[in-house]
Amino acid sequence: MAWHKVIKSKSSGGLGLGSIHNKNLALLFKWLWNLDNGVVGGWQEHILLKYRPHFINGIPEFTGSLSPTWHGIVSAILSTQNIANLLHANVGFKVGDGRNIRFWTDSWLSSVTTLQLLFPRLYNLSLQQKSSLADIYNLTDTSFNLSWRRPLRPRENGMRESLIAEVQRGLIFSDSADRKLWKFHSSGMYSAQSGCVLFDSLSATENNHSPVLLWNGYAPPKVDVFIWLLLHGSLSTQSFLAERRIINYEESHCPFCCKETETINHLFHWCPITWSLWGCFLNWFGCSGCLHKDPYQNLQEWSGLINGKF
Ligand SMILES: [Zn+2]
Repeated sequence: MAWHKVIKSKSSGGLGLGSIHNKNLALLFKWLWNLDNGVVGGWQEHILLKYRPHFINGIPEFTGSLSPTWHGIVSAILSTQNIANLLHANVGFKVGDGRNIRFWTDSWLSSVTTLQLLFPRLYNLSLQQKSSLADIYNLTDTSFNLSWRRPLRPRENGMRESLIAEVQRGLIFSDSADRKLWKFHSSGMYSAQSGCVLFDSLSATENNHSPVLLWNGYAPPKVDVFIWLLLHGSLSTQSFLAERRIINYEESHCPFCCKETETINHLFHWCPITWSLWGCFLNWFGCSGCLHKDPYQNLQEWSGLINGKF
């Protein structure tokens, strides 16, 4: 059984073991999350003073040489572009006094993007690319203090008006201090568990959802595992063993009919003995029908029987 199938969540068709690699990333990211989360003093202050990271949308970017520990944390998290993009897309801000939020590069508007991405031309012209929201926008009298490298042209003035309208429309602030938000969870707080779920979603490329009858308590766990192996073609049938040269092909006949090779489809669908057993079940439920040849589809159709439809 391929390991990437085993570690996928049960809802995605796996056994739900989870990726150790993603768990490690989620735990490491907690250090970066806590580094700039309004905590003053202690190890955060020491790291900020020593390495002076530049924050982009709440995620630090370090320049210069780091200690081996911090180099390991940063390189593990930010060296993979997909992970970095995923984190940037899921970090936002709740505006308090605006002093710890970067006006251009932090995602603090109700929209999901940043002003840098919405107005790239104005960002390039700005003399305040690293300024805080409070430096540029007065939350009390709602006035702007924008400065540019040169006078704006008529078209750029139109962009400036659009920017002001965007800020006034999208700004939601509270009386509390600025706070980072983890958009992936309704609480807004980052946890290693929610980080792990997010990272796992990145690697869930195959869309193999588990049938509704699986993993829901209808059967003991060992039966669920048996069905899961069946759906993945990994039951140790005679043909499975013969393909791996554990037994000879001559010995791989179905023990019921002794005519065909014992494959999963034969053993569970096509064998006359099995077929008559399915017929008994259908009669028992007082209905008739045909069975899908694919085990997954077959199981889905039986779930309809549980719900009174077949
Ligand atoms: Zn048979």
